Amino acid sequence: MKATVMYGARDVRVENVPDAQLVEATDALVIVTRACICGSDLWPYNAMVPSEVGNRMGHEFIGLVEAVGAQVRTIKKGDLVIAPFAWSDGTCEFCLQGLQTSCVHGGWWGGTMLDGGQGEAVRVPQADGTLVPLRVSPDDALMPSLLTLTDVMGTGHHAALSAKVGPGKITAVVGDGAVGLCGVIAARRLGAERIIILGRHPARIALAREFGATDVVSERGAAAIGRVLDITSGRGVHCVLECVGHAEAMLTALSIARPGGAVGRVGVPQQDTIPNGQGSFFANVTIAGGPAPVRAYMNELLPEVLEGRIQPGKVFDRITRIEGVPDGYRAMNAREAIKVMIRF
Ligand SMILES: [Zn+2]
Repeated sequence: MKATVMYGARDVRVENVPDAQLVEATDALVIVTRACICGSDLWPYNAMVPSEVGNRMGHEFIGLVEAVGAQVRTIKKGDLVIAPFAWSDGTCEFCLQGLQTSCVHGGWWGGTMLDGGQGEAVRVPQADGTLVPLRVSPDDALMPSLLTLTDVMGTGHHAALSAKVGPGKITAVVGDGAVGLCGVIAARRLGAERIIILGRHPARIALAREFGATDVVSERGAAAIGRVLDITSGRGVHCVLECVGHAEAMLTALSIARPGGAVGRVGVPQQDTIPNGQGSFFANVTIAGGPAPVRAYMNELLPEVLEGRIQPGKVFDRITRIEGVPDGYRAMNAREAIKVMIRF
């Protein structure tokens, strides 16, 4: 089968690899129908140390179940299923509390040991806990929005929950990538009174406004912080969704939160220290967030998509076949595309 393998920075290849197959009795074999490239795939795209064996890529996919292991109970051959960006058993203490990204029997797609979503098929461990059947056709018009539930929409929702978004709250979203844009959807859905998007790319800003952003701050760094403080009478915002991950974004997020406010961080941190430690300490700012348990959020967000109340699939502005995946990485990295969908 064909799959995407990254061998180093800017070195993404589509290659023939061994066919995915069942290994454990709790596995399912899924033939991928849709997948996509994530903003987080761009971190290794820019910085991966060269590797001889390479890393299989992709953690966002929908597909058809081809076979299941002997112990799989709820998933069956022929089901169209959606997979969250981490796999999980659904039964351990962390899964039961809705934190499937900390599953004691769970893990992450791709790398050197497992199939990734950017390939023709995937061995899915812990199929009963991981996969959610979809009662629509593989070519349904809702497929782009459903695909966002594998990661970016659930991650934006996690940022909003971690930032304690609710009715009447003034909310800022740092980052205008797909996660930030989905964060705008989530903040609006949770009742934020005002939503300030921090970003500068015209197409992304236009989409943010369509999703519910009320204010745009296109400055960066200290100027951005100053603008947000101006907008909020010098107080800062109640809620900040940090959807980037590098130090400048985190510094901005912590500097625009008002006393008693909260920052929900979902951008993968690219450093080990948190900036503005003293300022955020003396302002009693809550810092929360992490890898989103999107498996838990599917229950809540799936009806929202199926019934047309949210349309996060609009973040996809380019579609490719698997042969075009390397150029998809290039286009997202060059900010020519917000998010690239792969059709099989
Ligand atoms: Zn678990």
